Amino acid sequence: MACILCKEKGFSSLVEVGGFSVVRCSGCGFVCTDPMPARDELEEYYRGPYYGHEGSAPEQAGGGELKSIPTRAIRKRRYNALTRARMRVQFGWFTSRLKRAFTGKWPMRLIDVGCGQGDLLYLLKQDGDFKARGIDLSAVPLMHCRKLGLDVGLGTLSEQGLDGESLDTVTALNLIEHVHDPIAELGEMNRVLVPGGLLAARVPCVTHIRARMSGINWDQFSPPRHLWYFSPETFGRLLQLTGFESVHVSTFSNNPVLRIIAIKK
Ligand SMILES: [Zn+2]
Repeated sequence: MACILCKEKGFSSLVEVGGFSVVRCSGCGFVCTDPMPARDELEEYYRGPYYGHEGSAPEQAGGGELKSIPTRAIRKRRYNALTRARMRVQFGWFTSRLKRAFTGKWPMRLIDVGCGQGDLLYLLKQDGDFKARGIDLSAVPLMHCRKLGLDVGLGTLSEQGLDGESLDTVTALNLIEHVHDPIAELGEMNRVLVPGGLLAARVPCVTHIRARMSGINWDQFSPPRHLWYFSPETFGRLLQLTGFESVHVSTFSNNPVLRIIAIKK
């Protein structure tokens, strides 16, 4: 295989997990999964009945070699007061940065890719500054969104039939590490955005001190659930390749996560 960011073919192995290797590109340092699962197999998994279903059991859900992977992904999320408070803080960071960077006509037309149960959409709906829609590959969490009166659709971004330059903002929180082809995905996000449109993304950060200290035991090393492991540098390279310019890239002191706001060039 060749690195998707720099085309280098040399890699060193970092960790072996469940028949997959996590490897680092010797050209640009990008960390990714080897072998890369087939796109069909991945999409079948995310579209299947066993992903995103609260408390669902993957072993009840048919075949495919991916059926054993999602134990952490689909573990029952407990929406207690603390989780909600944390989520409000996390989403609030993005919404305030987006509002600050936005120069278009209000309300901001936004699509949340990989919206899940609609946690972000629910917050946006209560904020008059956004006109938000969400999409997800999995039908189960979308049922929850519809119950909350949220505007959602099933499928990938490219399946939505959106016109080019028709949206002001794309949010992709905890999404890009899962997608089969980040360059194609960000390319499509770029296409649907107006010139100067905004991208907000959140991904695990492999070069964070907490990730380094955890070494091979870092819980985000979970191929094939997570396929790509970014750093500020490698995410910057991805943005450059897909027509974006970074406005803000930061991490938390205690949480190995990258927060990115970028603008369509
Ligand atoms: Zn590379």
